[in-house]
Amino acid sequence: MSTPRIVVLAGDGVGPEIVGAAIELLESLGEFEFDRRLMGGCSIDEHGIALTDDVLDACEAADAVLLGAVGGPKWDTTDPDAPRPEQGLLGLRKGMGLFANLRPVRPSPALVGASPLREERIAGTDLLVVRELTGGIYFGDSGRDGDSAHDTCEYTAEEIDRITRIAFEAARRRAEISGREPKVTSVDKANVLETSRLWREVVGRVAPDYPDVKLDHLLVDNAAMQLVSRPADFDVIVTENLFGDILSDEAAMLTGSLGMLPSASLGADGAPGLFEPVHGSAPDIAGKGVANPLATFLSVAMMLRHGFGRAEEAVRIEIAVDAVLERGLRTPDLASGTVAPPPLSDVPQEVEVGTAEMTAAVLEELSS
Ligand code: NAD
Repeated sequence: MSTPRIVVLAGDGVGPEIVGAAIELLESLGEFEFDRRLMGGCSIDEHGIALTDDVLDACEAADAVLLGAVGGPKWDTTDPDAPRPEQGLLGLRKGMGLFANLRPVRPSPALVGASPLREERIAGTDLLVVRELTGGIYFGDSGRDGDSAHDTCEYTAEEIDRITRIAFEAARRRAEISGREPKVTSVDKANVLETSRLWREVVGRVAPDYPDVKLDHLLVDNAAMQLVSRPADFDVIVTENLFGDILSDEAAMLTGSLGMLPSASLGADGAPGLFEPVHGSAPDIAGKGVANPLATFLSVAMMLRHGFGRAEEAVRIEIAVDAVLERGLRTPDLASGTVAPPPLSDVPQEVEVGTAEMTAAVLEELSS
């Protein structure tokens, strides 16, 4: 493969700090070409809009897009005509045709104590939520007539088919690494909604193309309960836009650490994906050198796995991240406050570090 070309959109707030660290990480792994562009508040300052056509064209022509985060108080406004940083994100998702959002939830063993769930319940959790991103109730006809309002949920068989295939492919790729039996859980509300009945039917039609992957169906209310009662039993969850919005946030919070969560948004086969941490631009800590870069590192791992087919390097990053946490290194957002471990315990003492030290530690693990 020729040198992968990555459009880098550092964005606002802590964006440039965490993306700068991610570039160091990528450079330690091999040859990449970086095309740094403006998007979000920084683009509004320079060009008056959050996403220029030029930047969108560059993203569409790249092999992948790496995004930090956008937004901040400087661009908060109640003026409906004023440009807003998040318009850049929406424009990018639409322009690049990103219809699948992938959010893995895998609490690092050293951080299971940060989960709101009891340790024995969260232990072993390693799941992926695949959310349909461009259809459903968020994009159907909506309107208001006096005291009555409606939002319409629509799906086509084609939209369901393509997201289902992303989920099955992801389950296969995960199984190659984990050795677990691949499983897809499709979540719908087929006892009530016609779109969900179509969803279940199409998922069922796609499944025979993946005979090695087990499929089960769950109603969304049941799925919401099972996610907190037996999260370790899930592998890949695939669901429509609205259910995915809610379930992916529920699943994400199982880890208890916003600074640890990566995400990927994918489009058609061969088209570039967008890889970004789940958190925002954290304006409260921007410029202080304390931002946690690990969610961005794990997003880079997703880029290598889903964007470039370099799953082994992805796993090496994930192992390196686990290892630095096992050594006790914590950016302030992860620090538990209990710095000294119990006497004679084999739990390492927590060491509070900034972005640069955390980055250096991960690079050191990778090279060892
Ligand atoms: P946020 O995720 O930026 O911050 C929430 C809290 O988490 C803050 O205390 C912050 O310091 C902390 N935090 C977040 N990321 C961290 C990191 N890497 N390391 C250490 N601590 C971290 O959410 P918010 O405060 O609601 O939003 C701030 C801005 O970000 C807003 O303008 C919002 O619109 C924007 N935002 C952007 C995206 C995106 O670009 N995808 C997503 C969410 C929010």
